[in-house]
Amino acid sequence: MGIASGTKIMLDLSELAKVEQFTALPRIPTVICKIIKSNEERIINSPTLPTLINTPTPIVNTRLDAVRCLTHPEALKRTIHLELEIKDYREKLEFIPGDSFGIIAPNNEKLCLGILKTLEIDENEANQEISVESAEGTELPSHLRNAKSTSIIELLRYGVDLNSLPRKALLRLLAEYTTNEEEKKTLLFLCSKQGSVQFNLLREQVPTLLDLLITFPSSKPPLERLLDVLPPHQPRYYSIVNSPLVNRDLLHFAFNIVDYKTPVPYNVRKYGVCTPWLDNLSGYAKEINKRVPLTTDINIPIFMKPNSNEFAVPSDISRPIIMIGPGTGVAPFVGFIQHREQQIIAERKLNNIEKTFGEMWLFYGCRDIEKDYLYREELERFSENGFLKELLVVISRAPNAGLNGNPKYVQDLLRKRGQEIYELLDQKNAMIFVCGDAQGMAKGVNDALADILVEHGKIQKSDALKILTQWISDKRYLRDLVR
Ligand code: NAP
Repeated sequence: MGIASGTKIMLDLSELAKVEQFTALPRIPTVICKIIKSNEERIINSPTLPTLINTPTPIVNTRLDAVRCLTHPEALKRTIHLELEIKDYREKLEFIPGDSFGIIAPNNEKLCLGILKTLEIDENEANQEISVESAEGTELPSHLRNAKSTSIIELLRYGVDLNSLPRKALLRLLAEYTTNEEEKKTLLFLCSKQGSVQFNLLREQVPTLLDLLITFPSSKPPLERLLDVLPPHQPRYYSIVNSPLVNRDLLHFAFNIVDYKTPVPYNVRKYGVCTPWLDNLSGYAKEINKRVPLTTDINIPIFMKPNSNEFAVPSDISRPIIMIGPGTGVAPFVGFIQHREQQIIAERKLNNIEKTFGEMWLFYGCRDIEKDYLYREELERFSENGFLKELLVVISRAPNAGLNGNPKYVQDLLRKRGQEIYELLDQKNAMIFVCGDAQGMAKGVNDALADILVEHGKIQKSDALKILTQWISDKRYLRDLVR
């Protein structure tokens, strides 16, 4: 068991014996990719320089400069703050708070090696220079178009997704390359209509490609056939936490380490791709809020994400902003406040007069004030200095949260301060920014905003919802949400 050797998938095949015919089987995947070996014997094995991935802006190799653990060891989630040095790329990496960037993390090395071993590809072959070409009459999928002068190990590291939920096309392909009749039958069952319940149970176990290969050990598809069906390896995106007005040479960001167990009865430990990799590179920082400088040369390849939805600190500093970001959703707002703080200080120095600056309100939520209040020091300092007009924090697992009218989530706090929020929106043209979870939180916040407009603006709920939709299209109500 484990990443390196894989975990056998649990299947209940009691229904299989009763099935007379499989229906709705997917077609055998089309042959698209061809692996062409180079004429020269050349080793291609550069673990930190991905050349395969298409990115919207150029990739740069930043240096990991410092780490800080933002949570207590007993917190439900572990959150890490990292600092990347970018001083060599000042021109290429322009940013403002609200922007985000992509990190290109390799698939887990042990997982890649485990797959090579199972497919009986030796190390020498895995490191040899190859190119991926398309079979006649077909076109390579866009994520493999740069797969020239690469190697099999690089394709596994950066080319394809080895962890995402398996699709029926993959199972159908594995069935084609199985020598054992029982395994073939099981694989066909899983991708048929008759096996749909078992297919869903298989997906609940979040199997990696290696888990599938060891569950069906007689299936040995050629790697090029796997390239036909595996989805692309994806970069991971993070919001920038710091303002360039404070430091142009560093990019700060924060993330939860993805490490969880699949539900009972499976109980298999699962890891994300990027966050455990970053955790490992930065030395598994444990002590809460202790910044640890990193002196060894550790490279992290990144690229800037074009900010298409304009989720960014507004340039007009007289405009009030209402920021709502529970959990790591607070990340960009630390940068927003830092940025405005610097703008205000500069303006005061320049004009020596007290100008009116837009109020900043932050609604933040965490589970336990001692264990996972992210960026507490920074936020309290902004609040004490008056740059943050209101710092509103709600503790969801406090004993009285959600009871007797006590708030539990950010949306409850919004409602509590409804009158003032309404005035900010109605009289001061405030902007609203929401960052975090797309499902529960964003919907809860939208409902609360609509209720505020109804109660204090004396309008119908349907009109309130229309206003919010209009504000979204006017870019007055901006959201950076992750599903
Ligand atoms: P989290 O730790 O899971 O939750 C933070 C707080 O939100 C907890 O107190 C939680 O309460 C509460 N919460 C749970 N359900 C809620 C709901 N329906 N409405 C309002 N609050 C609710 O948060 P997280 O995992 O950090 O989530 C932040 C999200 O932001 C993630 O999806 C992340 O991908 C995304 N994001 C991250 C970045 C970044 O730069 N890292 C940038 C943009 C977006 P209970 O658990 O007690 O219910």
